[in-house]
Amino acid sequence: MDDIIVLGAGLAGLGFAHENPSARIFEKNQHPGGRAFSCPVDGYFFDQGAHISHTKKEDFRRLICSALDKVNQIKSSNVSNYWKGLWMTYPVQNHLNQLPQNQKVEALIDLVMSHVDQNKNEAVNYLQWCQKQYGNFLTHNFYEVFTQKYWRVEMEQLATDWLGGRLIPSLVPNIIRGAFSSQQEKQTSFNKFYYPKQGGFFAFFESLYSELDIQFNEKAVELDVNKKQITFSSGRKESYDILANSIPLPELINMINPIPASVKQAVEMLRHTKLLCVNMVISKPALTKNHWCYIYDHDIGPARVSFPGNLSAASEQNEVSMLQAEIFRRDNENWDTESLTQDTISQMANMYGFDAQRDVALANSFVVPYAYVISDINRQPLVSYLLSWLREKDVFSMGLYGKWKYVWSDVAYYSGRETANEIKEQLCQV
Ligand SMILES: Cc1cc2nc3c(=O)[nH]c(=O)nc-3n(C[C@H](O)[C@H](O)[C@H](O)COP(=O)(O)OP(=O)(O)OC[C@H]3O[C@@H](n4cnc5c(N)ncnc54)[C@H](O)[C@@H]3O)c2cc1C
Repeated sequence: MDDIIVLGAGLAGLGFAHENPSARIFEKNQHPGGRAFSCPVDGYFFDQGAHISHTKKEDFRRLICSALDKVNQIKSSNVSNYWKGLWMTYPVQNHLNQLPQNQKVEALIDLVMSHVDQNKNEAVNYLQWCQKQYGNFLTHNFYEVFTQKYWRVEMEQLATDWLGGRLIPSLVPNIIRGAFSSQQEKQTSFNKFYYPKQGGFFAFFESLYSELDIQFNEKAVELDVNKKQITFSSGRKESYDILANSIPLPELINMINPIPASVKQAVEMLRHTKLLCVNMVISKPALTKNHWCYIYDHDIGPARVSFPGNLSAASEQNEVSMLQAEIFRRDNENWDTESLTQDTISQMANMYGFDAQRDVALANSFVVPYAYVISDINRQPLVSYLLSWLREKDVFSMGLYGKWKYVWSDVAYYSGRETANEIKEQLCQV
């Protein structure tokens, strides 16, 4: 029987194992879950950036919810925008009545003009897409600033292949109605979502790993694609017939020696963001009713703040509020995480009206070295080239970082299953 090794016990590794339980999984951490793992801090669970399940796949929903007794089903998300001291409902274009009169008029004129002017050419980058959908005022004041904080590149550098399920095209009647009266938000793709009542996002998956053959604390450091052998940091060496990879594509390729110059050049052009999560427990109940909030000001470090107690409904019983603020940087940017953490605590205190000295019962921060893959204009052709180079060497890549394309947790899981099936088919043909 062919020996298959899986690198990484995240959700792609989990999906692979569900399809092919005989594969051996090697994981660098001492726990499974990867990006979906929730970090315990003094009895509180903080995810690696805001995580919820808004899956539309019924079998995935059943899989993750059946393992848990208590799931919080949120029927209508409560999401805010914060811009120059104003609190607005997300997404801004559907709630223009919350802008001051002159800015509302400017936003509406630009939006209507962008729809009147529509030339039939497709938007070739994210800037053009936003201008066509929302007009110049909203693009410039909201989407442009947010892109600089969240993606850490300029809008014209981004492609449009990552938008599905994240941003919504404008519905003009909705926008006009929302400019004159408040309306309940129904358009966003995460309006309805699920979250475990206890244990953070990872509680959805924890029990699904219990039967799997996973070798923990095994970090792959070298890959010999000719001998088909992997070396781990412990010194252990393992041979394989086929490798299923879910670790970040640049890390995997940089483990191979030698690599052709064209591969080296391609991998050096891949960009991603890293994330600093600043986690706090505030000794005040019901700090806000929001599930999360997007921040559009440059002078406030975090791009997004979430409230894990409101996701799990724990805040209903608790005397405290949990808060997680997310600060993004590109992989190749320097940062001083200690001073960013301190600044964030003061900025959150100002925004949410607590005392940064007296009311903070717990504060810590952790870094997520791989957060979002940056979908710039180069990404897609570079990744196709790298994935087909790896396939010639019997390395199949899967999941968010293996395929180097942003996907939600359900898609990461199914990417593992699909990869296992692809390998089965290939083996049948031999
Ligand atoms: C900030 C953020 C917010 C998100 N929010 C949501 C959300 O709200 N809803 C949603 O559905 N999805 C969300 N996602 C996406 C979701 O987290 C991912 O799609 C999913 O967890 C990816 O799983 P994966 O298995 O592909 O990758 P990973 O989880 O990264 O798994 C890869 C595994 O490989 C291991 N590994 C790495 N290097 C090595 C090595 N050298 N040797 C051995 N093992 C190694 C890692 O430790 C990890 O366990 C979010 C992602 C991010 C970054």
